[in-house]
Amino acid sequence: MKRKILVTGGTGYIGSHTVVELIEAGFEPLIIDNLSNSNIGVLDGIRKITGVSPVYENIDLKDYASLNKFFQKNQGIEAIINFAASKAVGESVKLPLLYYRNNITSLLNLLELMPKYDINNIVFSSSCTVYGQPDTLPVTEQSPIKPATSPYGYTKQMCETIISDTVRACHGMKAILLRYFNPIGAHPSAEIGELPNGVPNNLLPYVTQTAMGIREKLRIFGNDYNTPDGTCIRDYINVVDLAKAHVVAVSRMLDKKNRKPVEVFNLGTGNGVSVLEIVSAFKAATGVDVPYEFAPRREGDIEKVWADASYANKELGWKAEASLEDTLASCWKWEMKLKEAHDKEQNA
Ligand code: UDP
Repeated sequence: MKRKILVTGGTGYIGSHTVVELIEAGFEPLIIDNLSNSNIGVLDGIRKITGVSPVYENIDLKDYASLNKFFQKNQGIEAIINFAASKAVGESVKLPLLYYRNNITSLLNLLELMPKYDINNIVFSSSCTVYGQPDTLPVTEQSPIKPATSPYGYTKQMCETIISDTVRACHGMKAILLRYFNPIGAHPSAEIGELPNGVPNNLLPYVTQTAMGIREKLRIFGNDYNTPDGTCIRDYINVVDLAKAHVVAVSRMLDKKNRKPVEVFNLGTGNGVSVLEIVSAFKAATGVDVPYEFAPRREGDIEKVWADASYANKELGWKAEASLEDTLASCWKWEMKLKEAHDKEQNA
């Protein structure tokens, strides 16, 4: 019998890639998603890649009664990977209550229901945003947690605390908190990828849309930072590599290999790459130019951050493997696939 894993937010960007990797590793993922930032077509992409149509229910995790019903109906779930959350930093500043209510209430409901259905394991999507601008680089899991720069960032910090307190109080419960750096790229099949809503906030969808001519120019936010070329530095990690780390984390919990009830891992490549370096690497990987201009700094941006991923490498036996070039090529293949689908729809 395949082991059942609930993936909340399983039609989202990282969630969908994780569902694929879970299926390919022999698990049975079940998806809950309210499609607030994704669409139902993602399930087709998952089926095309894996040949499997996972159980899917459109449930809002804030709805305790519906979630309870879902668990009643789907017994035997052994772990939860909780991706479902609102994630746009700028939006969270404008709509803080939406972020606090959505991200916190959803987690509280899951944690409350877990013991009732004998589910002991949870993997949580956290973020390097919890480190703010670190004093020393690269950041390790022991680097201090800094005051958040947005309500979104606070929800990640609060959720980590809520999970840790709950696990400490609830015998048998275990958690793994995964702090992602900057996930980019798409599945190599280009059947699933990132689906930004409207004008992209994140760098890579903006780069590919500019390369496609959907946007006129990439605006690079700030070229006067204290970095070698003046633009911000991040640790960009391939989304499939990131997804695989979730499979490893879940397996570790089911095999009871966790060293502590709550474990924390940085998921990054360990390499810092500037915005300008992304633009030139994209050209090198695809042959396509990305017109850009420099624009003022974006409020709340961190100057530079990259991971020390050695703890995850050693403890999980996991490593980010994809090259930046292949990852950027996968972004472009996905953007071309989106264009093809869009053109087909226009001509229909
Ligand atoms: N960025 C940019 N132009 C854009 C979007 C992003 O220059 O249109 C920069 C942003 O300032 C940051 C980096 O790209 O330095 C990564 O931003 P993103 O929003 O993708 O991720 P973040 O690190 O902020 O979570």
